[in-house]
Amino acid sequence: MDTTSVCWNLTSACNMSCQYCFRELSESAQSLEVNLGILDNLINMGVKRITFSGGEPFMYPYLLDLINKAHEAGIKCYVVTNGSLINEENVQTLLEHVDKITFSCDSPREIVNETIGRSTSRGVNPYDHMRNILPLIRYYYPDILIDINTVVTYDPNHEYRELDYMIEAIRNDLLKNNINKWKIIRFYPLRGKALSNKDRFSIENDEFLEIKKEYESENGYLTIDVRNIKDIDNNLIVSPCGYLKQSLNGEEKILVDLKPAVRKGRERHV
Ligand code: SF4
Repeated sequence: MDTTSVCWNLTSACNMSCQYCFRELSESAQSLEVNLGILDNLINMGVKRITFSGGEPFMYPYLLDLINKAHEAGIKCYVVTNGSLINEENVQTLLEHVDKITFSCDSPREIVNETIGRSTSRGVNPYDHMRNILPLIRYYYPDILIDINTVVTYDPNHEYRELDYMIEAIRNDLLKNNINKWKIIRFYPLRGKALSNKDRFSIENDEFLEIKKEYESENGYLTIDVRNIKDIDNNLIVSPCGYLKQSLNGEEKILVDLKPAVRKGRERHV
């Protein structure tokens, strides 16, 4: 197990409602004070890389405080986001100490994004939004790593052509911004909406292996990584309420409560 890297799911709040989402809805985000204590514990554990995630991490009001402190401690800061809260005015500030930003994006097509719930009340297609802010990110931060994550779900026609739309869009529109990696992640019914929509979205093993074979063969001009949930086993996760968890066979077990001792039992939420 790599104990130098954790994924910190700071909040379960999100401004989208993807039908396959498995964010942790039963836990509340913690106050800045509590999360600074959790960060101290991670620093003392020797963590060298934190991936801030959610929900949507930019909905947590003190994300930048945590990133700044982690950066000062020499920790690499990664963010996984739907990108919708980054704009021309705030991009420079939000990403100042971010080493890698990963956009979650499943399709360039508005109709598909709306159907799966990957859209905000502003009615802007998230793919168009991402395409528009990528050059700005590159302008301000030439060295930042940019990844794209796509969740692949069951296609009743067994064609998975949405991945073709996506790869075309990356090739024609996005690659010029120096994309580091495109990760295709198999739908996994861990909890929440993902669990209740299991029958609608689950992909059989052999079908997934076909997808993996087809898309990883495109590796060359772009790194494409096709992943099963088991590929991320043993990862360390910090949940919104501060539990350090380890994933195993797609399940998570609690290792320790990272909240500062004085706060345990009387948590303050944001
Ligand atoms: S998958 Fe990501 S963007 Fe979609 S609802 Fe869940 S947290 Fe929000």
